[in-house]
Amino acid sequence: MKKIITRFAPSPTGPLHIGTIRTALFPYLFSVKNKGTFILRIEDTDKERSKKEWEDELIKGLGWLGIKWDEGPFRQSERGDLYEEKIKKLIEDGHAYYCFCTKEEVEAQKQYLMSIGESPVYNGHCRDLPKETVDKYLKEGKPYVIRFKTPVNKIISFNDIIRGKIETNTNTMGDFVIAKDFRNCLFNFTCAVDDMEMKVTHVIRGEDHIPNTPKQILIINALGEKEPEYAHLSLILGTDKKKLSKRTGKTSLSDYIRDGYLPEAILNFIAFLGWNPGTEKEIYTMEELINDFSLEKIQKSPAIFNIDKLDWLNGLYIRKMQIEELTKACIPYITGIKDEPLEYLVKIVSLYQERLKKLSEINELTDYFFKDKLTYEKELLLWKEMSFEDVKKSLEKIYDVILNDKDILEEANKETNRGNILWPLRAALTGKKNSAGPIDIVNVLGKEKSLKRIKEAIELIK
Ligand code: GLU
Repeated sequence: MKKIITRFAPSPTGPLHIGTIRTALFPYLFSVKNKGTFILRIEDTDKERSKKEWEDELIKGLGWLGIKWDEGPFRQSERGDLYEEKIKKLIEDGHAYYCFCTKEEVEAQKQYLMSIGESPVYNGHCRDLPKETVDKYLKEGKPYVIRFKTPVNKIISFNDIIRGKIETNTNTMGDFVIAKDFRNCLFNFTCAVDDMEMKVTHVIRGEDHIPNTPKQILIINALGEKEPEYAHLSLILGTDKKKLSKRTGKTSLSDYIRDGYLPEAILNFIAFLGWNPGTEKEIYTMEELINDFSLEKIQKSPAIFNIDKLDWLNGLYIRKMQIEELTKACIPYITGIKDEPLEYLVKIVSLYQERLKKLSEINELTDYFFKDKLTYEKELLLWKEMSFEDVKKSLEKIYDVILNDKDILEEANKETNRGNILWPLRAALTGKKNSAGPIDIVNVLGKEKSLKRIKEAIELIK
């Protein structure tokens, strides 16, 4: 069987989009599973919008996720000689030509065609210019672009692995521009040439590229090669069924990293955007994904990006972490840390491992451990029907219990309602409506600090 070669071909024109990860992950999984080659190709032909910082972020992001490429990164900006050679070949072989029409002329034609309800394609004015005219114009230095000589009224058909047969009539494309000049080739051309030169067997990418595919096939065929196979992934929509955008939520991977999502959770989540193993199994390590992945199980319908599911998965992976490892991962998020030893931090974090959904939540959950004095409204100390007088009595009792190292739970159980003891205690220790259980907190906070906080609570209601 032919060796499988896939690629991820991002344009470094902005932060790495969370949805773009899927167009890296799927070809990666497919190539590893089939012992193929996975190529990273940076499509930076758009000189104005491409930036080194976005490329760096992209490479860092892939590393963080554990998506490894076998070859590359190749940069299109460094492959100009190859493109020049291929453009020249296309012109020599009569598959491309110089077009000297001005922008204004082309625009006017387009407007006209649209006004009569036709596809706004180039009218072919320069398609058959005599060689002498072309030479003369070039000598004069007349500005030009290079267009592909698209066959007239031909059906270009390809069998998309996910969508089945897709057909396009060439009349809807016209003679499209492939280069501004020999050193400035456009996306469809460089992409097609690279897929061909890199011997890519499977192009796996977003469905927004479907209209480009027939053009790329034409280019590859004109250069004498057979096109690869194509698999176009469906859009990713938000739960509002609209395209994921900054408006509806965070879109860049760096935001998710900053929020404290784990790479394992993100991978597991992204894998299920449009892919479904067809079983009940929902938790997948990278290795398991590689084992079970197949292009046939990718769905045509749009994938829904459900952040609740990601949070759920992330919580699950957090619970699976070794507590020390989790604590170390949490430390950068805790703003109040001074010089507390790791063992102490481990105890604090372990109080919240069960309920943590993302690492960034740890700060607000545990800030009371790092404050000298808490501020809260005294009403917080009230439990159900209790009066301040009752609360005061409870706190005094619990003060005595802790001071004399008696069993807190045993004392609480003596009450008709143990909340009478446990609620005011918890509120006094944390200053919060919700927290871990008060007995656990006393154990971590220590006797001295706990007594101090109870005393302060009593002061507050006096
Ligand atoms: N560079 C293109 C993009 O970022 C992808 C091209 C491709 O995968 O064919 O949208």
